[in-house]
Amino acid sequence: MTHPLILKDHVESLGQGRFTGLVCGDCGAKTFPARSVCAGCGSRRLQTTEIKGPGIIRTFTVIRVAPAGFKPPYIVALVELSEGPWAMGNLDGVDPDRAGLDLIGRPVTLGSRPLSLPTYGADQCRVLTFSLS
Ligand SMILES: [Zn+2]
Repeated sequence: MTHPLILKDHVESLGQGRFTGLVCGDCGAKTFPARSVCAGCGSRRLQTTEIKGPGIIRTFTVIRVAPAGFKPPYIVALVELSEGPWAMGNLDGVDPDRAGLDLIGRPVTLGSRPLSLPTYGADQCRVLTFSLS
């Protein structure tokens, strides 16, 4: 069985400023980032769809001990997208040392940037980013 969206295509579309998700042929739920099955009902009848946002910050945390390839401190936010799915990414443009609960509920736009990990090349990984609207 072939999947409608593989990681390589997802990373390439992020690099082109496009956010590709999946829409379910059974329940209509949208999934982003892509998974092997629908996040709403578990169906495998999936087609690609474009996700545009914006989104709303629902929660966040400040990372002070980071994995390889990341430079702490930085903010990881969980954002509810206007299309329905929730996505996790780095919140850019906000000082992590000044991040407060007033961030919750703030609108954000989607972006991405290359991520250089020790085991992968910079063209193989991107991190999803959010910026305050
Ligand atoms: Zn579904």
